[in-house]
Amino acid sequence: MHTRFPPEPNGYLHIGHAKSICLNFGLAEKYGGLTNLRFDDTNPSTEETEYVDSIKDDIRWLGYDWEDREYYASDYFETLFGYAQKLIRKGLAYVDDSTSDEIAALKGSTTTAGVESRYRERSVEENLSFFKQMREGAFPDGSKVLRAKIDMASPNMHMRDPVLYRIKRAPHHRTGNTWCIYPMYDFAHGQSDSFEHITYSICTLEFENHRPLYDWLIRELEIFPSRQIEFARLNVSYMITSKRKLLRLVEEKHVTGWDDPRMPTIAGLRRRGYTAASLREFSDRVGVAKRENLIELALLEFCIREDLNKNAQRVMVVLDPVKLVIENYPEDQVEYLDAENNPEDVVAGSRKLPFTRELFIERDDWMENPPKKYFRLGPDRIVRLKNAYIIHCHQHTNDANGNIREIRCTYFENSKSGEDVSGVQAKGTLHWVSAKHGIKGEVRLYENLFTDPEPTNHEDQDFLDFLNPDSLKINLQAICEPSLQDVGIGMHFQFLRSGYFVTDLDTKPGFPVFNRIVSLKDSWGKKQG
Ligand code: ATP
Ligand code: MG
Repeated sequence: MHTRFPPEPNGYLHIGHAKSICLNFGLAEKYGGLTNLRFDDTNPSTEETEYVDSIKDDIRWLGYDWEDREYYASDYFETLFGYAQKLIRKGLAYVDDSTSDEIAALKGSTTTAGVESRYRERSVEENLSFFKQMREGAFPDGSKVLRAKIDMASPNMHMRDPVLYRIKRAPHHRTGNTWCIYPMYDFAHGQSDSFEHITYSICTLEFENHRPLYDWLIRELEIFPSRQIEFARLNVSYMITSKRKLLRLVEEKHVTGWDDPRMPTIAGLRRRGYTAASLREFSDRVGVAKRENLIELALLEFCIREDLNKNAQRVMVVLDPVKLVIENYPEDQVEYLDAENNPEDVVAGSRKLPFTRELFIERDDWMENPPKKYFRLGPDRIVRLKNAYIIHCHQHTNDANGNIREIRCTYFENSKSGEDVSGVQAKGTLHWVSAKHGIKGEVRLYENLFTDPEPTNHEDQDFLDFLNPDSLKINLQAICEPSLQDVGIGMHFQFLRSGYFVTDLDTKPGFPVFNRIVSLKDSWGKKQG
């Protein structure tokens, strides 16, 4: 088994490409085969080296290796030129002087046959000579094309003398100005597979109708018979998977770049905090379909939660702080309490959390007139502080608007987590950070980039009409536990009771910047408790 991943370097890879990468590399891995990386760079005007580099980074990051098998369709330009000459010699290709409008007009329709071009019966010698002159730059752009001579009445439009070569004076990212004619995708793609002896050429459904042409070329050129197999594109709700549309988001500055954490690009998902393992797992669970379908974003979120539940360190961060004072706790005392790093991972160990008289807790964890079933804090209520003590609220003060300003409690000295002999019952457990030791950070709270699950599926509306104005909210008041002071970039955490987060590349020493990946699945349910 020999597969390949064949991106066109005209943009960054997206979640759909991730699926294709996992499928191609995954199959070869499973059956002991190889996978090539081939850049399908036949279109000189849209391709850039930046994209080539980003594509390689993304595949490596996903965990796959093409070793020394990095190819470019442009490396085959000379061979492809020879193949075109072979077709001419066999009387199976001709140079056509018709304009592109004329060619289109004579193509016919699905119900009517096309009309043969008046240049179709040119002699082999004339065709060879014109084709050579096309290459040498004797003719202006668009004035001639090379076409296959197949069947203008074929029910398959792709078999109606498809264009194989066009004249286009545009510098190419690898071949520079060497060429002024370029092979069409359909003439380059299948042949490239054959050169590389690809056994399974896996592609998306839209190429199903092209297959007869590829098979015809393989037969007539007598080259390696790569076998094309089509599968349905991956579509994910609330995401778009079209490089052209993603480019618009970047160029029109609706996002900060290709790696904006809201982008469905691999670079964006990585910065958002998705792990390679979670994307591979997602790709696996999605499977391979023969019919178009829409996968729920919730499945992708499930995969990252499952991964991070096992692997992310737990920390305490208070997103919307309110001061809590423990009146019977000595002013200058600091206790370093044990906190488990990850209850799902026995080898993750523990860390020490400073506990002091003044703490911050979540504003949301306080209610002045709570209902009976509310297990967080309110007047005369009892709760446990995670990894610490049970407290009892006695008093509070509000600001001029009636919002909570400060909560005052006492603690039960003999109720320390792990050695609790107090006998006091606390139904709820809250997270907290020492006011003296907590550090500031920035927390970027992301929502879906679009308000509609299928933003590109509205005939009368542009997908940009569905941009979510609340896709990013920046929180600058969060207080983080001190272990987060000098955290590196790309570190994954579970903020207790709130969600999964990753440190963004904007993180500075002493000032962490977090991206929210996903909320905790059951955070809504827990809050009801
Ligand atoms: P786009 O429409 O985003 O430009 P493309 O198909 O033109 O995508 P290519 O660079 O040609 O992009 O794609 C490289 C490989 O990835 C191809 O084999 C293609 O079939 C596959 N691919 C692209 N989009 C998807 C998708 N949404 N799901 C699965 N595979 C995809
Ligand atoms: Mg393509």
